[in-house]
Amino acid sequence: MKYINEEKINNLIVDATKIDSRKLDVILKKAKSLQRLTLDESAVLLLIKDPEDIQKIFSAASFVKDAIYGRRVVLFVPLYISNLCANNCLYCAFKSDNSLIKRKALTVPEINTQTEWLLSRGHKRILMVCGEEAPSGKSNIDYYTEAIKAIYAAEVGKNKIKRVNVNCAPLGVDEFKQLKASGIGTYQIFQETYHQDTYLRMHPKGPKRDPDNRIDAVDRAFSAGIDDIGIGALFGLYDWRFETLGLLSHVQHMEKKFKVGPHTISVPRIEPAEGAELSLNPPYKISDEEFKKVVAVLRLSVPYTGIIMTTRENAGMRDLLLSLGVSQISAESNTSPGGYSAGNAEQAGLPDRQAGGQFSLGDHRSLDQIVGALIAHDYIPSFCAACYRLERTGETFMQMAKPGTIKGKCSMNALITLKEYLNDFASVSVRDACQKMIARYFKQLDPLEQEQLKLFIGHVDSGIRDEYV
Ligand code: SAM
Ligand code: SF4
Repeated sequence: MKYINEEKINNLIVDATKIDSRKLDVILKKAKSLQRLTLDESAVLLLIKDPEDIQKIFSAASFVKDAIYGRRVVLFVPLYISNLCANNCLYCAFKSDNSLIKRKALTVPEINTQTEWLLSRGHKRILMVCGEEAPSGKSNIDYYTEAIKAIYAAEVGKNKIKRVNVNCAPLGVDEFKQLKASGIGTYQIFQETYHQDTYLRMHPKGPKRDPDNRIDAVDRAFSAGIDDIGIGALFGLYDWRFETLGLLSHVQHMEKKFKVGPHTISVPRIEPAEGAELSLNPPYKISDEEFKKVVAVLRLSVPYTGIIMTTRENAGMRDLLLSLGVSQISAESNTSPGGYSAGNAEQAGLPDRQAGGQFSLGDHRSLDQIVGALIAHDYIPSFCAACYRLERTGETFMQMAKPGTIKGKCSMNALITLKEYLNDFASVSVRDACQKMIARYFKQLDPLEQEQLKLFIGHVDSGIRDEYV
């Protein structure tokens, strides 16, 4: 596979087992000064086995998370617009050979209704997701751009979607330019596995079969001007240490070629998917302990990159991973196209087959419950999209994220958007918790920031929405 040196990764894994664990302190000191780690250093961390040393890694990861991101956690929701797919990925319910699920591509009015439902719950950031096949008579890019337009057009009261990120099939440079022009935030694409043979086995047919075309999609998106890119690996297909070092090799490639790493890294674990046998028994199932290590090592290795955790994971695991480095989480998700307007299909207890979902989920809490739980753990829920609006993307964002200077802005914006949520959507008990949190953080600000926050809060109370610094 392009940009991935398998032999080097395999050697790193073998060599790291021989390394004196005293080297650990040196590596953790470097990480805590917010410097990027080398592949060798990350490999050492991944291979550490002693429970006390693992605890050291976890507390260093919490330190770095706090130093760069503060207490804010960004919330988003996926919107599945279609489950039509020309590929046959062995782990996914949308695979073309699967006749057990109902196929559906949402129309523009349906996308609008779905978005309105999400807005009415308080969501402001959408991740648009779909299989790799447009409804008949349309090209992929035409379908994506009309869907994005429909999402941005939806309105509930004064609330609109602030940022649409996209997780869709790889495109050509010209098509990526159209995607960028439609106003997307991050373009996400997961390599699934960085191990060539595994990749070929998992993707037996369809356009996704070519691993180089997939990994090069990141480069094409960059060339087209999309500089916020999200990468990821699907954990369970191959050895977790190899995949983590594969992800980090991919980061190195991006940094070398574009002088900017990925905006986010996703670490989905394979979940059971209707009609996709492999998903029920993944070949390299990763344990909870190993998974925690992956998140912590990524946080230490690429401190300035956001880490995303979706509702594939259960509530307990998600709450815990926040302290190890996760900075963005999804909430109230449904993986079937149309699932929201029918009520949340998973929450209503519909079987996956009927719901046409991609895989089953681990966290079924409502957005309001998740906001409440975040506050209870002293995290500030954030619906902010300021960086994207102010063109603090790509290298500009990294310049601010690297020394930790983005933190102040993030916290301020998180508090403003939390106040919007409080006024428009929160349940009585969560409203009270939001109020207390804003008051508590207000006290920690310097006098100038206090004035600024007071002003914004006054604006929110007078009905103004969507202000940010
Ligand atoms: N179809 C496009 C693609 O594959 O790139 C984009 C959307 S796909 C629906 C999003 C991601 O879902 C995939 O990249 C894959 O990592 C993940 N996925 C697929 N099957 C899964 C499963 N059974 N459990 C967890 N995640 C899964
Ligand atoms: Fe299609 Fe994506 Fe599922 Fe593969 S992972 S079958 S490309 S939707």
